[in-house]
Amino acid sequence: MTEVAGQVLIDAARTAAANAHAPYSNFAVGAAVLLTDGSIVPGTNFENASYGLSLCAETVALAAVNMAGRLRDVVAIGIVGGMIRGDRIEGTAPIRPCGRCRQVLNEAAQVGRRDVLVYCGSATGDEIERHDLSDLIPYAFGPRDLGVVV
Ligand SMILES: [Zn+2]
Repeated sequence: MTEVAGQVLIDAARTAAANAHAPYSNFAVGAAVLLTDGSIVPGTNFENASYGLSLCAETVALAAVNMAGRLRDVVAIGIVGGMIRGDRIEGTAPIRPCGRCRQVLNEAAQVGRRDVLVYCGSATGDEIERHDLSDLIPYAFGPRDLGVVV
């Protein structure tokens, strides 16, 4: 996986973040999932007035991937986020997926029988970290433990 692919995913995630529904936290997050055929599926955070029902950008994107029947084709994901200030999203530090999203990403990784690359970007896209999902959620519980994937 080239760093060019990482930058493409971060750019797609930044575009997705512009559509965040985040009136409670004012923290916009965008995600972009890369599939084996090179297609990219975006997602953005979708907050709810109940707070607890809010959906992370990563889960929104992965649900769309699953809806398309492509969960086993996930290769990488790019994630960005930052505070909404007017029509801008600000933040200079890369953000990383929450624990729940790491677990949801692990589902795709084990079903697809590959580690997923996780590109974590700043809101500006200037700072990008590259991680293997297995480093972000070591010893994960998943489909293997239930015998769904061997
Ligand atoms: Zn999350």
